[in-house]
Amino acid sequence: MFDDGIDLEAVRTDTPGARERIFLDSAGSSLPPEPVLRETISHLRRESEVGGYRAAAERADDLEKGYAVAANFLGCEPEEVAFTESATRSWLNAFTAVPLAEGDRVLISEAEYGSNAVAIYHRARLVGAQVDVIPSDSTGALDVGALRELLDERVKLVSLVHAPTNSGLVNPVREAVAVAHDAGALVLLDACQSAGQMRVRADEIGADLISVTGRKWLRGPRGTGVLVVRDGVELCPTQIDQHGATWRIPDSVELRSDARVHELWEFSVADRLGLIAALRYADEIGIDVIERAVRARAGALREGLTGIPRVRVHDIGAVRSGIVSFSVDGIGAEAVKDALRGKRITVSAAGAHGALLDMSRRGLTEFVRASPHYFVSPEQISSFLEAVSGLSPA
Ligand SMILES: *Cc1c(COP(=O)(O)O)cnc(C)c1O
Repeated sequence: MFDDGIDLEAVRTDTPGARERIFLDSAGSSLPPEPVLRETISHLRRESEVGGYRAAAERADDLEKGYAVAANFLGCEPEEVAFTESATRSWLNAFTAVPLAEGDRVLISEAEYGSNAVAIYHRARLVGAQVDVIPSDSTGALDVGALRELLDERVKLVSLVHAPTNSGLVNPVREAVAVAHDAGALVLLDACQSAGQMRVRADEIGADLISVTGRKWLRGPRGTGVLVVRDGVELCPTQIDQHGATWRIPDSVELRSDARVHELWEFSVADRLGLIAALRYADEIGIDVIERAVRARAGALREGLTGIPRVRVHDIGAVRSGIVSFSVDGIGAEAVKDALRGKRITVSAAGAHGALLDMSRRGLTEFVRASPHYFVSPEQISSFLEAVSGLSPA
């Protein structure tokens, strides 16, 4: 048993899929708990009865309260919260709103997420800005000292990844933000893999902009995300519609002053309600309890894998997340995933594209990822390790 304060019986009752399968892919797309499902499905049903407009009007108060729920969870004010349809949409809205001109610099880390990187390199080329990579320290984490060396007044943005998609790393983002702010740079934090499995609070980390997804560790519906924009951050939003701005004839456009300038008018109300339910659910369990539980499970899993001959664990960093990356000698990542699926175990397999800088530096082309959430039982971790031990090359 893990001594971590999780009521395993209760959370597993809320998560039928966790009983039927050994689900180790919360870094991919987790299992939403019953309260999230109920909220989402009942709203779809209501839409089928009275139409989407009236169904939404009936839940207007709850939708509005959602901003306070997200703000409370993410350590900011309700006015600093925008709901979006994914972490990538959140991230892109923030990134494209950061003024960037010829000669400016953007700093990224070796953990940079593939989709963020393509947007950064593409835009930098378009405007004539320069992108530099912050080196990692000997543990594989972002080197805060090296960041300090790289900063100058030309650096307009530092893009950080809290927990990358491909390794167990947790970056020292709080320290990195402080250093970046000393030099006057804005910080955009990708908290996609950290929110919901560990404490991610804007008031503690200090980042100006934070992107979050619903479908991973938060256990919300797919197609949901949150963007935090701290008050006072000077941005120039470009992705606006009549929800975020008002048109006054003939040609004046007035932007909202809060974070909702980054939202569009249209969204899936059922999914938004599901995400709000997921935020409440996580908050009820308590993020510190969740963090301990996830660390305990990932730690046990990592340790167990390390002891299996032919298995190589690829995790880096001194502080570790709930992501465990590994490979099995002689068996490709996809084949490992498929073989485990045959034993009712869900993991994911991926190539290098999610974190190309880090993967290339370490000479890795693919990996298997196991990411246990708090609803995974100790017996299931043991069964998983047994199944991996039993894998043999085809
Ligand atoms: C999954 C992931 C994203 C993208 O999240 P979406 O919700 O699919 O947009 C961004 N950053 C990291 C580190 C991720 O792992």
